[in-house]
Amino acid sequence: MSNASLRVVWIYPDLLSTYGDQGNVLVVERRARQRGLEVQRTDVRSDQPVPTSGDIYLIGGGEDRPQRLAAERLLRDGGLTRAVNNGAIVFSVCAGYQILGHQFVNDLEQVSPGLGLLDVHSTRGESDRCVGDVLGDIDEQLRLPQLTGFENHQGVTHLGPTARPLARVRLGQGNGTGDGTEGAWNGTVFGTYMHGPVLARNPHIADLLIKLALDVNALPPVDDRWYEALRQERIMAATQPA
Ligand code: GLN
Repeated sequence: MSNASLRVVWIYPDLLSTYGDQGNVLVVERRARQRGLEVQRTDVRSDQPVPTSGDIYLIGGGEDRPQRLAAERLLRDGGLTRAVNNGAIVFSVCAGYQILGHQFVNDLEQVSPGLGLLDVHSTRGESDRCVGDVLGDIDEQLRLPQLTGFENHQGVTHLGPTARPLARVRLGQGNGTGDGTEGAWNGTVFGTYMHGPVLARNPHIADLLIKLALDVNALPPVDDRWYEALRQERIMAATQPA
């Protein structure tokens, strides 16, 4: 594995990077390097073209207006869609997740088209924002430990017939539809409402992305004590009233 390399692309940090979502890039980079992989990271600002040669693309959350601008630019650019058609992996959070769906309701109360890389569409929730810690069971097909994260969104995301929920919530709202689903995935494209940063709280998901990119079934183990401590702390905080 030591000769392998990984190209990691961080999409629009100038528009989409709330709640420390950049931590997701740092976790993917670090866990790949710990396995002896050479990592090439590219941060793509919203006035730059999205390279099509990446292996893993990460997109964070954002406020409503930057979300609309990011969707317009990504659609115009077309690079992310071409990369996915070439087999790239995408991991998106919150506003980024909504952008990857067919459409979402923007800050002007209009419907914005998304990239359609996930079979989901988003509306604005009628009730309070979904805010707080979340615990969930990740889709059994992915065989990963419990999901922990923090959500803060007004949008509600509805899954189409070909999308699988990333998880079922035990605590919190997730997609906000009341059906207990959280996030979605279609093939190599993943979306979640979880911040945290979510990959720091769920390093197994970062490893899943790396495995998919390398097309391997397993990675050498790394020291997970720090991650485990963080997971346990957040799970305790979520389940035990203050
Ligand atoms: N603006 C979106 C919403 O409120 C996404 C928010 C976020 O990315 N935190 O639904």
